[in-house]
Amino acid sequence: MKNKTIAIHKGTLRDSRTGGINTPIYTSSAYDYINKDETFYPRYFNTPNQDAVAKKIAAFEHAQAGLVFSSDMGAISTSILAYAGAGDHVVMLDALYGGTHHFATEWFSHFGIECTFTKTSARDMITGVTPKTKVIVIESPTNPLLAVVDIEKIAHFAKKENITTIIDNTFASPVNQTPLDFGIDIVVHSGTKYLGGHSDLCCGMVACSHEKMEKILSLARVLGPSLDPKICYLLERSMKTLVLRVNEQTKNAMEVAQHLSDHPDIARVYYPGLEDFEGHEIANRQMKGFGAMLSFEIKDKDLTQFIEGLKIISPAVSLGGVKSTITSPSLTSHAKMSAGERLRIGVTDSLLRLSIGLEDADDLKQDLDNALKKVSH
Ligand SMILES: *Cc1c(COP(=O)(O)O)cnc(C)c1O
Repeated sequence: MKNKTIAIHKGTLRDSRTGGINTPIYTSSAYDYINKDETFYPRYFNTPNQDAVAKKIAAFEHAQAGLVFSSDMGAISTSILAYAGAGDHVVMLDALYGGTHHFATEWFSHFGIECTFTKTSARDMITGVTPKTKVIVIESPTNPLLAVVDIEKIAHFAKKENITTIIDNTFASPVNQTPLDFGIDIVVHSGTKYLGGHSDLCCGMVACSHEKMEKILSLARVLGPSLDPKICYLLERSMKTLVLRVNEQTKNAMEVAQHLSDHPDIARVYYPGLEDFEGHEIANRQMKGFGAMLSFEIKDKDLTQFIEGLKIISPAVSLGGVKSTITSPSLTSHAKMSAGERLRIGVTDSLLRLSIGLEDADDLKQDLDNALKKVSH
């Protein structure tokens, strides 16, 4: 099946009683156990609604198995802890999602895990590996600087060394990038973003081989970050339009990125689709589209005034919805990082991260132009 068909058909159940064509919502948290091979229970991650979305993400990511969590932090922390424990070492990108970074800096020592943070080049990551390294955690493109990691190079190296690789594929979404095809072991998503797509639910997802899933599922069942069946249904409904949404948002983002990079009031644009962007060549190799996230810096103007001048694009944390939003990473996703650390990875106070939605690209460009015109020099 191709993506658009997967979106509609994969995992979706018919209602056997009525012939209804949508997955019924299974609300029970108590299921019959007599003469059953498997006992259903939401925290066992095996109810029909959880299974329906898990099958969709697995198919999208070309994986054998999928799993839905109550958030990406639930998905990524469980996946890391399933493959790294006391005495083990993890290599992680320094410029990735603030929550993942925070989990490593604040909590790894609690589990006896050591961590080395590296820059995004494959050479830097490989240099960070020690004989104790069990897991490499990457993100590509990264949040919020859109740095592109050479996925195939990392995966190839890790396979040889018996190291498990985890990628957070949130920014690209499976529409634009399928990392398992390049040899990555485990893909995680903040389904809160493109998979949900309407900024009205929070969930996480994992996709990998049956073999890799065994430990993740076993640990997930005791840690317990499972998703409610009603939200699973909402997610399933959203995933049916994933391909259409992401393709359109990606097209919009390319237009806006181009427009901003030609704008005299813009100092710098971070978008993998721009030919002069550092990661463009690698992105071109491993992505089908360049995604709908971009960041930029405006030339010495009042940021707050600029954001207040926007009428269509709203200031809001989170991303990936049908509505365009803008955020200041130094105040939101990366606020827990020290100012020095932020500066070192390039998250300046004047950096703005833009999540492009489904509005008309002309209106978005106009909105940005108007807000730029309004701010005083
Ligand atoms: C938002 C985000 C997360 C966290 O997702 P939650 O669903 O809130 O746990 C992780 N990684 C990336 C890249 C994100 O953008």
